[in-house]
Amino acid sequence: MRKPLIAGNWKMNTTITEAVQLTTRLRSLIDGVIGIEKVVCPPFVSISSVKEVLKNSSISIGAQNMYFQEKGAFTGEVSPLMLKELCDYVILGHSERRQLFGETSEIVNRKLQTALKFGLKPIVCVGENLAEYEAGQSKEVVRKQILASLAGTSNSAELVIAYEPIWAIGTGKAATGLQANQIIKLIRDTIAAMQNPQLAAKLRILYGGSVTPENIVEFLKQPEIDGALVGGASLKAEQFASIVKQTAEIKI
Ligand code: PEP
Repeated sequence: MRKPLIAGNWKMNTTITEAVQLTTRLRSLIDGVIGIEKVVCPPFVSISSVKEVLKNSSISIGAQNMYFQEKGAFTGEVSPLMLKELCDYVILGHSERRQLFGETSEIVNRKLQTALKFGLKPIVCVGENLAEYEAGQSKEVVRKQILASLAGTSNSAELVIAYEPIWAIGTGKAATGLQANQIIKLIRDTIAAMQNPQLAAKLRILYGGSVTPENIVEFLKQPEIDGALVGGASLKAEQFASIVKQTAEIKI
């Protein structure tokens, strides 16, 4: 049985003060929801303050990115060693990093290997863009991203994968549950062939892309989908809480 997971990616939003306010509200709304994992991923500068607010709570923290070196002359980067003291999860290879900051699957792979070495739980993002989707290449593109991003790893049970079609991110046009389930099944099958079927069966795979309290149920009803990576709706405490509560009701 895979434990459902709902993660909120705040992206480059919230000042430290706003992050504390959002977290305080969220804690009051979802701390008591049991049986699923709840993760918030604030900007780096707010993680310490958010951690204070979440002390002794059931809500975990993730970072939105990380460099693949432990320390050294890498101005502006944040290392796994630093994150290890602050959070449990780290998002790797989000499409905004791939598209805007030139992150390739090879770079994601180096980050993944380092995150695992330092005991951070990676949430690896994959997904095709609109042109690839319209050309019917979604499966091929996602399969290649998985093969390259996970190359050389053998511990898939510790990973979380997020399937996030780029055309669905921040657009209000989510994939259908069936579409997402098909690609997520392909991801699980690909990892089963790369590593081993028993581990792949334990791997949690999330859907991400315009998830809201109104459409979350459609995804949760699918057998392969273990939760969601939520962008916009994670910035509104009531909306994120509703997604978390509906997940607990449906998946447990
Ligand atoms: C995301 O960026 O990870 C995301 C899923 O965003 P949104 O929910 O806003 O589409």
